[in-house]
Amino acid sequence: MKHVEVITTVILLSWVAVVILLEKCFPYRKGLPFFREGFWTDLVLYTLVQSYALKIVIFDLIIQPLDQHFGFSKLHLVTGWPVWGQVLFFVVTHDFYIYWFHRFQHHNPFFWRTHEAHHSGKQVDWLAGSRSHAVEILINQTIEFAPIILLGADPVVVPIKALIDAVWGIYIHANIDVKSGRLQYFINGPEMHLWHHADHQEVFHANFSTKFAFWDWLFGTAYLPGHKPAKWGLYYAFPKDYFLQHVFSVKRFDERRLLRYSLFRRYYYLRPALWRWLRTVLFRRKPATTPVASRLST
Ligand SMILES: [Zn+2]
Ligand SMILES: [Zn+2]
Repeated sequence: MKHVEVITTVILLSWVAVVILLEKCFPYRKGLPFFREGFWTDLVLYTLVQSYALKIVIFDLIIQPLDQHFGFSKLHLVTGWPVWGQVLFFVVTHDFYIYWFHRFQHHNPFFWRTHEAHHSGKQVDWLAGSRSHAVEILINQTIEFAPIILLGADPVVVPIKALIDAVWGIYIHANIDVKSGRLQYFINGPEMHLWHHADHQEVFHANFSTKFAFWDWLFGTAYLPGHKPAKWGLYYAFPKDYFLQHVFSVKRFDERRLLRYSLFRRYYYLRPALWRWLRTVLFRRKPATTPVASRLST
């Protein structure tokens, strides 16, 4: 089992390198910086810290106790299937679920608050897909992985499915000018998903597919014009800080107005100050004073 995780990690890191290279050679939007706004928030807090913490919650605190209590996995409902059949089954059924839940999140004001963070970035790239509200991940990954374990799938299905999610997630958000032709009716890619991240009214309720584009074509929500979006992200102001993004989903506030309070100011500028200090130590650079408007969005 350990070696499967090593192999999936190597494949994932290689895929990241390939996509970054393709973004450099064939950009969808030219001039997008690699260290774009929110890069460190997405990498450190969403990709590493949140994923790790939620993995413990989802597997150890929800799915395992559920299985221990009801003993579903002992029924071995899919155990006899070949591994590829199990993977295919869970990829397709979960993708069908995620299409409808995603669509529901765009229509329901309450659940929109668990999804708006994902749309908050104005510079969409390979890493942008990682920005997902903790509650959204908690719901979606519990619904994704609970059936895999409860139906008695082979243990390798979990890391293989997680790898497929990551590879596809990176691909659909990548800033690559892909022209996949008829394949875009079947396989979802940046052509349609980058439009989903645009701040254009015509796509507020379109392009909900994640892996298979045919859900959008089948259920009448596909949007694929011949041009590229002009505006990106949300049409309203959204906090840049990870924790404030989560607070904002519960209680609306104006980040700028909170800066009047010294305690909040201290918290708000703590990480940029630490980062500046680290840069001075590591690269022996002179500490630069960062104006409020261009504060590092870590
Ligand atoms: Zn969305
Ligand atoms: Zn997305």
